[in-house]
Amino acid sequence: MLVICTATPGMGLVSEVFDESKLKKLPGTSAIGHVRYATAGASVLKNVQPFVAGYRFGSLALAHNGNLVNYSSLRARLEENGSIFNTSSDTEVILHLIAISKKRPFVARLVDACEQLEGAYSLVFLSEDKVVAVRDPHGFRPLVMGRKSNGAYVFASETCALDLIEAEYVREVQPGEMVVIDKNEGYSSSCLMPRVERKACIFEHIYFAQPNSIVFGRSVYDSRYEYGRILAETAPVECDVVIAIPDSGVVAALGYAAQANVPFQQGLIRSHYVGRTFIEPSQKIRDFGVKLKLAPVAHVLKGKRVVVIDDSIVRGTTSIKIVRLLKEAGAKEVHMRIASPPITGSCYYGVDTPSKEELISYRLNVEETRKVLGADSLAFLPLERLRGMLEDEAPKFCDACFSGAYAVPPRDLTKFKEEKLKPVLVVNEGFEGKIEATAEETQAAEEEASAAGQAPPVVAA
Ligand code: SF4
Repeated sequence: MLVICTATPGMGLVSEVFDESKLKKLPGTSAIGHVRYATAGASVLKNVQPFVAGYRFGSLALAHNGNLVNYSSLRARLEENGSIFNTSSDTEVILHLIAISKKRPFVARLVDACEQLEGAYSLVFLSEDKVVAVRDPHGFRPLVMGRKSNGAYVFASETCALDLIEAEYVREVQPGEMVVIDKNEGYSSSCLMPRVERKACIFEHIYFAQPNSIVFGRSVYDSRYEYGRILAETAPVECDVVIAIPDSGVVAALGYAAQANVPFQQGLIRSHYVGRTFIEPSQKIRDFGVKLKLAPVAHVLKGKRVVVIDDSIVRGTTSIKIVRLLKEAGAKEVHMRIASPPITGSCYYGVDTPSKEELISYRLNVEETRKVLGADSLAFLPLERLRGMLEDEAPKFCDACFSGAYAVPPRDLTKFKEEKLKPVLVVNEGFEGKIEATAEETQAAEEEASAAGQAPPVVAA
């Protein structure tokens, strides 16, 4: 019987794409899924994964977490040889490389394709009789394997996904490893290519992963708690209450509060019932949307010296609004503590940070940043303490967006990042993604900043 891979792509939340009736209609016994914001290529339906392609040996589906740093040159070479691309996503080159490979059998073609890739890739393939999981030699992005009680194998970025479906965590797919689950031959594993130094993304622990996950063999909860504890030790301040920017600042705030022996309280409430703010048509409505999303609790804040913990600062525009929100709610002092070092460089390995010129910590030092935010004090997690916490494992983690030490030179992506930029001021990174201003809003924001005697919040190149 001919078995064909099919896809049900959609934009938005999973619950907006799949409903009961769609789920019931899904055929077959194996599936892969993908939930991701675009880090390469536009955020449009044709770039939604998993990608499904038909080629001379059947059909193949692919989901990719990460970014390829040699995408442009691979694509140029493929196009010169006649390949036609459907999408603007870097992931599509992988399918073309597999299709043109002369190697046999199927698994050898995957190896052949992966050997030509540079950068970050955690991949899951689905063919007619196999599920294959592959991780790049540096292991930038996570990928774990689990097993259900009925023997079914499961792969996921985070262990919390395994918990949801009551699958048992087995182990990480190792950097440079290929795990094959064959319908007839069962499980096998092989080393894809020579091992290089592991470079697991430390930002997964700082921001991305759920606190109930184990990522790169470490508890995300424990990491964040320790970041907060270190901040209280390295940047103490007289205060009455510690609050968090929900949700990713919460665990670090608990660590800070415990170390400082100051009560942790919910000074900001995140509403989970408000729709996305960044699709609203004007800046005023978007500002209102942010207010709806994060509501200050005046009773907790009024007349208090408040320490507020956030996971990171990217452009700084959200932080400006939060400081303003807290002060308007009656906070006497607002002290920002950031549970990561200052972000001074772009990520080329799958996290959608903007170009470095848009990063507030690339343009300004800590004191200048504090002034722009309007906070009474500001401190970041020191990079050496973050590395110290990782002990002997520190060299096995990527911290390039803080240190500039890129393990794989981002040669092609310099162009890619430039292409993504628009010549506008970015006035709000929002809580669910960046918001780019119109030319009119750009001018208004510049005028507002100039009237307040501040540097323009963020200027894109
Ligand atoms: S540059 Fe930063 S965000 Fe990107 S992989 Fe390295 S640590 Fe992670």
